[in-house]
Amino acid sequence: MDVRTSIVWDYAPAPESTDHVRLRDDYGLFIGGEFRAPQDGRHEPTFNPATEEPIAQIAWAGEADLRAAVAAAREAQAAWAALPGRERAKYLFRIARLIQERARELAVVETLDGGKPLRESRDIDIPLAAAHFFHYAGWADKLSYGIGGRACAPMGVVGQIVPWNFPLLMAAWKLAPALACGNTAILKPAETTPLTALLLAEIIQEAELPAGVVAVLPGDGATGAALVRCEGIDKLAFTGSTAVGRDIQSAVAGRGIGLTLELGGKSANIVFEDAALDQAVEGIVNGIFFNQGHVCCAGSRLFVQESVADEVVSKLWDRMGRLRVGDPLDKNTDVGAINSAEQLQRIEALVAAGEEEGAVRRSIACDVPDRGYWFAPTLLTDVSPAHRVAVEEIFGPVVSVLTFRTQAEAIEKANNSRYGLAAGIWTDKGAKAFEVASALQAGVIWQNTYNHFDPTAAFGGYKESGFGREGGPAGLRPYLRVS
Ligand code: NDP
Repeated sequence: MDVRTSIVWDYAPAPESTDHVRLRDDYGLFIGGEFRAPQDGRHEPTFNPATEEPIAQIAWAGEADLRAAVAAAREAQAAWAALPGRERAKYLFRIARLIQERARELAVVETLDGGKPLRESRDIDIPLAAAHFFHYAGWADKLSYGIGGRACAPMGVVGQIVPWNFPLLMAAWKLAPALACGNTAILKPAETTPLTALLLAEIIQEAELPAGVVAVLPGDGATGAALVRCEGIDKLAFTGSTAVGRDIQSAVAGRGIGLTLELGGKSANIVFEDAALDQAVEGIVNGIFFNQGHVCCAGSRLFVQESVADEVVSKLWDRMGRLRVGDPLDKNTDVGAINSAEQLQRIEALVAAGEEEGAVRRSIACDVPDRGYWFAPTLLTDVSPAHRVAVEEIFGPVVSVLTFRTQAEAIEKANNSRYGLAAGIWTDKGAKAFEVASALQAGVIWQNTYNHFDPTAAFGGYKESGFGREGGPAGLRPYLRVS
């Protein structure tokens, strides 16, 4: 008898160890260079979205704590600004080096608290956070060169509110330029992801930054709203939803304080028929499934030239079938957990609305753990530009496919959005890429790649995606008074 053994080729589990992570059970507020209990004693747990288990208790800041942090920041600001730029730079270099030293631990904690795959927190979030501190350390003694040779002074005390999709990286985007320019800062991390900001506070302590130069005050939306309205803030920087950005803009109106808003997006990823299609498919996958699609510049509107639409959709669907969804700590995982139950509900509701409006939904088959928040990577076809899934930010692993016939139509459709954060162009023709890029209303445009970030390059939006730039010398300007 001919007996053959069938071999199933699959990945073995490759979980990252968590043994080296030493988290406290309870974190206080970081004010005046030390961790303190909140004045009203409020603590709330932070959860792992992949298991729904609590990780640690987190102090939430109330108004009295905010006032104390602003007072400490005000007291520290003059001396911090008076330091020669090269001395401030030494502190930033130290923070960058300490992030590198604790990179493994920070990556695991980012993944535990936020649900993103370890591969991404280890290879992207944490190295880029260190790179931002290195980059702005280099600018601290060259500020006027970064703003066209003009004289400048720091804004003063800045309030910074960051979201849950890139917790440590967004903190680095905000703190590094602010500190380089001689400001003191109060950082409010997102309710669901406070841990790496608190570890950064430990790093700041270890780097011996003067007390009061940085405060980290976790809390919820009410804490953010109170920070926005707090007396004594000279500038606010916010990354998050357009709705909250609007609320902040009206709250600061008439107060004479600086404001930068980095808001949502519905970015167009445009594939022309002359593109290298296999490469484009990799770019589409990276554009929308990176970080479960919780990315403000995600390529969530995919425009494909009609002549290659069937081929691209077929290749994309085939490639999506090989995405591995599940335990974010597993080094083979491509798509991790959705950040919170609320976000999962938002994604489910919008995708259901898309189906009701006539879009055809395909979600990949995947086994996900029994607990935690999961959403299978999803492809929506037969989408028309008026459908909600083509208009609203889904902020999840969902790509809406639309088609176009000519270059002019691609540009018109791509610009038909109230947002204008990013775009991708896939073509073999350099001149076409430049022509299309010049006509697109988007702050960041990638050619034959997507979701590439670099501390030397400016990032920011047009229209309802906000204003102000972060990264590179352009990122210094919002933190300086220029004369
Ligand atoms: P929010 O805009 O509510 O959250 C961003 C940050 O602002 C968080 O730190 C949040 O605190 C804080 N915040 C919330 N309300 C206020 C307020 N009134 N005043 C000041 N700060 C406030 O985003 P959500 O978490 O609610 O996500 C909703 C949608 O926003 C997503 O589905 C996505 O479409 C979009 N979004 C876009 C982001 C981007 O990078 N552009 C990032 C995050 C979300 P807390 O977390 O404690 O509520």
